[in-house]
Amino acid sequence: MAEIKKDLLIIGAGPAGLGAALYARRADIDFEITEKHMAGGQIVNTEFIENYLGLKKLSGFDLIQNFTEHCKEMEIEIKEYTSIASIKFIKSKKKFRCQIFDSNDTYVVSSIIITTGASPKMLNLEGEKELIGSGISFCATCDGALYRDKDVAVVGGGDTAVEEALFLAKFAKTVYIIHRRDQLRAVKILQDRAFENKKIKVLWDTVVEKFEGKSKLDHIFIKNVKEKKVSKLQVDGVFEYVGYVPNSGLVKDLVKLDQDGFIITDQHMRTSHQGIYAAGDVRNTPLRQVITAVSDGAVAAMIMDKHMRGLL
Ligand code: NAP
Repeated sequence: MAEIKKDLLIIGAGPAGLGAALYARRADIDFEITEKHMAGGQIVNTEFIENYLGLKKLSGFDLIQNFTEHCKEMEIEIKEYTSIASIKFIKSKKKFRCQIFDSNDTYVVSSIIITTGASPKMLNLEGEKELIGSGISFCATCDGALYRDKDVAVVGGGDTAVEEALFLAKFAKTVYIIHRRDQLRAVKILQDRAFENKKIKVLWDTVVEKFEGKSKLDHIFIKNVKEKKVSKLQVDGVFEYVGYVPNSGLVKDLVKLDQDGFIITDQHMRTSHQGIYAAGDVRNTPLRQVITAVSDGAVAAMIMDKHMRGLL
């Protein structure tokens, strides 16, 4: 069993983790950055990004490529496909023991920056679990092309739902946006684009009641909540975008979370536990964007450095 001793472990290599890593490298902190999957986080599955200052509209994949190439140039090695299974605080040493999943190796570190992001929320309806991957998807970028000239539905009314509906409209015959209220939550520029798109039809005040299909999705039952009317809608695919759940499980017993499970931090990205910082979508931030995640990561690394050097 090997003990890997470092000053800092950054857990998660999405925009927040990579932002933290860049600043940690420049501050000459002895750190490591791990990522459960491949580097990138949620933006790997994002068709395009047009609100990252200084970079004109580009795909999520290209943005991540830029990020990881930059990290490589700064001699940052991202430990991909390395999952942290548990974190224990050793009170006497003021250190954290971070066990790597499926390995005998453990990190022993003084500080941790949690940048584990968030995962798509499910609707938890009848027929849903069985049909995930067979008509129900959480990633239009991955599965959209399978629905050329077909009818699909997107559930949700936020930025993600509308953005992905616009993407799906490139392939599909009809894209229904099923939204539970009579107003979209998405920003106006996205709403305008959706309303102008002839393939997109918004079903207002409507919720999905259940999914049906034998080996693949065939139709759904939807309910107009104002008229209390249930109807059957024939669709080949349903894309769920009803928000995210934070990936905060690793530290749920160590730090304070808000009622939705997001990690509570102060403006310095400090959590309620000394030595643990959180940055990006996993924390209770008012804005979840790539640009704010990168910035959170930078703040966390710089504050960690100041603490380590006794300047705070
Ligand atoms: P979100 O803003 O939380 O929106 C979730 C949507 O799903 C809302 O319209 C909500 O309805 C609906 N919803 C939630 N639970 C539901 C349920 N059980 N049944 C039916 N509908 C349900 O999530 P998001 O769109 O994924 O965005 C997450 C964050 O990422 C936001 O901060 C967003 O601004 C950001 N984002 C930004 C961009 C961009 O800047 N380009 C792109 C994507 C995401 P209500 O409106 O009625 O609550």
